[in-house]
Amino acid sequence: MKEIQQKLERCLLKVQKPARYIGGEPGSVVKDLSKVDVRFAFCFPDVYDVGMSHLGMKILYGLKNARENWWCERVFMPEKDLEAIMKENGIPLYALESLDPIKDFDFIGFTLQYELSYTNVLEMLSLAGVPVLAGERTSLTPIVVGGGPCVCDPEPIADFFDLFILGEGEEVNIELMELYERMKPLSPTKREFLREAAKIEGIYVPSFYDIEYNEDGTVSSIKPNCEGVPEKVKKRVITDIDGAYFPENFVVPFTSIVHDRAVVEVLRGCIRGCRFCQAGFIYRPFREKTSDTIRRQAECLCANTGYEQVSLSSLSTGDHTDIVKMLTTLAEYTDKENINLSLPSLRIDNFSEEMLERIAAVRKSGLTFAPEAGTQRLRDVINKNITEEEILRSCAMAFAAAL
Ligand code: SF4
Repeated sequence: MKEIQQKLERCLLKVQKPARYIGGEPGSVVKDLSKVDVRFAFCFPDVYDVGMSHLGMKILYGLKNARENWWCERVFMPEKDLEAIMKENGIPLYALESLDPIKDFDFIGFTLQYELSYTNVLEMLSLAGVPVLAGERTSLTPIVVGGGPCVCDPEPIADFFDLFILGEGEEVNIELMELYERMKPLSPTKREFLREAAKIEGIYVPSFYDIEYNEDGTVSSIKPNCEGVPEKVKKRVITDIDGAYFPENFVVPFTSIVHDRAVVEVLRGCIRGCRFCQAGFIYRPFREKTSDTIRRQAECLCANTGYEQVSLSSLSTGDHTDIVKMLTTLAEYTDKENINLSLPSLRIDNFSEEMLERIAAVRKSGLTFAPEAGTQRLRDVINKNITEEEILRSCAMAFAAAL
C-alpha cells in the first residue's frame, strides 16, 4: 500500500465527506505507470464538489487519457479539515487516480475559472511541496500551466506559472504534451523546453516578456525579451465544434457534487453582446453542434454513466439556430428512456410557443432565464436588449405550461 494511502486511511474518518479524497469512482481512469510517458495533474483550485461539476475538466481529462501512454489525473483543493491534517501529517497534495504526490508529475495544470480561486492555487502548490514562484522552479518538471477564462488577463498571477494556455484547450493541450513527449528523452532544461513551447500558437510564457506599467497600475507595454517568441500571443479557437472531441463517459462521484448529471455542450460563444459579460466576448465566435451530434453525445453519456438527467450546456441555449429540431431529436430519446432534460441559459426574448411545446414534451425540470437587471434603463445600459413585455410574456407562457 502506498504511504499516502496508509496515512489517509488513518485520518479520513475525521473529515467531512471523505469520499471526496479517495478516488476510485466509476469512470475514473487508472493506468499502468510502467506504460506511461507523460503525467498530467489536472488541478481544479476549489473543492471536489465544485471542480467535479466543471465540464472543461471532463473534456480535457477524457481527451488526454485517450492517449495510451499519457495519464491525466484529477486534483482538488482539500477542505480546511483535511488540509490541516495533511500539513500535520506531512501528506503532500496527491492525485486522486494514483494517490501519487503531484510534485512528481510532468505537468501541474490549473484551470482558472474565477479570480477568487487564485489563493487556492498558491495553497495547492505549497501543499504539493512545489515552490510557488516560477523563478524558483529550476528543474524541467513539474511544469506549472494555467488555462481557463481568467488567463485572458494573466499578469496578476504571471509570476507563479511557467506558461499559460490562451483560449480553448482541446488542440493546444495536445500539442504541448506532444512537444514534451518528444523533448523529454533529450533532457532539455526548463528554458529550452519553454522556448519551444512558446512557438505553439496560444502559449504565453510570461518569463519571456518584459511588462511595463503606467502609474495607475495598467500595463503600458509588453515586449518579448527572448528571440523566436511571438510579439503577440493569439488565443486558440476550435473551429469545428461539431467534430471536436467530447467525452463519452464522465467520472461519477460517490458523494454529492454541485452538478451531478450528464452534460452536453450544445454551442460555444454567444451571438449577443451584453456589455458586462466576459464569456460573451472571450468565447467568440459563435459555433454550434448539430442536433444529431447533441443527441448522440447525450445518449452515450447517459448509457455510460447511468445518469437519468441530462443538461444542455452553453452560454445561451435558446440561440441554437435549430433549437426546435434539436429538442425534438433529443425528446425522442429522453422520452423513451424517461430521462430528465434541463435547459439552463435561455434568453427571454426568443422563448417561443414552439420551443415551449418541445420542452413540455420531455420529462422536464426547471427553466432558467437571466434578465440581469430589474429596470428597463439598466437592461438598456448593459446592452441586454430585452423588454419588460418579453419577460412577462415568457414567464406567462412558462407558468401556463406549468414548467
Ligand atoms: S446573452 Fe448571456 S452569454 Fe450572451 S453576452 Fe449576454 S450575458 Fe453573455
